[in-house]
Amino acid sequence: MVMTDVVIAGGGPAGLAAAIRSAERGLRTLLLERSASVPDKACGEGLMPAGAHELERLGARIPQGGSASLRGIRYLEEDGTVLEGQFGGRPGMGIRRTVLAEALRERATAAGADLRRGTVLATHPRFDAVEVGTDSGVLDARLLIAADGLHSPLRRAAGLDAGNGSGPMRFGIRRHFALAPWTDFVEVYWAPRIEAYVTPVGPRSINVALLHDRDGARDFDDLLAPFPALRERLAGASVDSDLRGAGPLLQRARARWAERLALVGDAAGYVDAITGQGLSLAFAASSVLMESLPDDLSLDLGPALRRYDERLRARWLQYALPAHALVALSRRPALRRAALRSVSAIPGAFGALVRLVAMA
Ligand SMILES: Cc1cc2nc3c(=O)[nH]c(=O)nc-3n(C[C@H](O)[C@H](O)[C@H](O)COP(=O)(O)OP(=O)(O)OC[C@H]3O[C@@H](n4cnc5c(N)ncnc54)[C@H](O)[C@@H]3O)c2cc1C
Repeated sequence: MVMTDVVIAGGGPAGLAAAIRSAERGLRTLLLERSASVPDKACGEGLMPAGAHELERLGARIPQGGSASLRGIRYLEEDGTVLEGQFGGRPGMGIRRTVLAEALRERATAAGADLRRGTVLATHPRFDAVEVGTDSGVLDARLLIAADGLHSPLRRAAGLDAGNGSGPMRFGIRRHFALAPWTDFVEVYWAPRIEAYVTPVGPRSINVALLHDRDGARDFDDLLAPFPALRERLAGASVDSDLRGAGPLLQRARARWAERLALVGDAAGYVDAITGQGLSLAFAASSVLMESLPDDLSLDLGPALRRYDERLRARWLQYALPAHALVALSRRPALRRAALRSVSAIPGAFGALVRLVAMA
């Protein structure tokens, strides 16, 4: 059996970024994605400036008209309060997941990664390699990268799941509308225990994502009811995608590695989409991982993977702390209104907070 250096389970943004960076290092890289078509999923599709920068460093080419430039974040509260913060410097990017995946796939293939359809089913680490069971047979690799998403079966099988906490669970759902964007800000409409995120993703396309704690709620129009101003904006616009949902969003990992296994992207743990940093973190994880690995992957990878975990934890905290804080405010509408009122009273404070999160 031919030994592959790196097998990646999952062809979402995290897996594709890992494939690009692994192949660029000259490692024999095989990525298996279980979906037949380019995977699409529930996502607000807003890349913060840090993520847009990582995407550029990955060398992915986004086709003309395939994205929208984002200038900042605008909060709109139910009492009419509006807070606006600009990213300053580098802009963010709104981009449909299918466009992003196509661009990353093209770049990964050009870098030399082998992308195939397939499902990783099981993994058995040995001394200097890992046996990867797939739906089309067993492969030998030096390292398995699990990029299998929020509910990562590989994280669970490796005993790295730490559950999803005790508070009310949060869920997400999204739909596209064929509509010219009315702004180059990501708009966040607040209502009690639900928010609507509007992201321009192209010259005639906007993404509307809703984050809420109503387990099982699948009726987009019902969920949109607390946002009359947004409903008015969307009235008459044609729906431009199939509905996609995800959740529960909070997924904790005990660690981001096990023997000959590294977790990247949502598989490495996730808090919430409330700050729109998941893609940025997914891109960052693959570069941190590749920087942590030794040249000779037949060595004991434990120290390198532990280093990866420690280095990623610093990035993770920059994401997790604001995300937990905002989720807590989302659950307490009166406190949220008071907190945002205090922020709006200090000139420049909201912009400073936006830049802090956007560059993390
Ligand atoms: C409602 C919502 C809104 C969001 N908004 C934003 C936003 O605006 N900005 C932002 O940056 N982030 C946002 N996020 C987060 C972002 O979507 C995720 O962080 C991102 O998708 C993580 O990518 P991933 O590659 O880790 O996982 P995924 O995108 O879920 O990809 C995992 C892939 O693995 C495949 N797979 C699974 N199991 C296997 C297997 N065993 N073998 C082979 N393949 C497998 C799946 O088919 C899938 O393609 C949002 C999330 C939600 C739910």
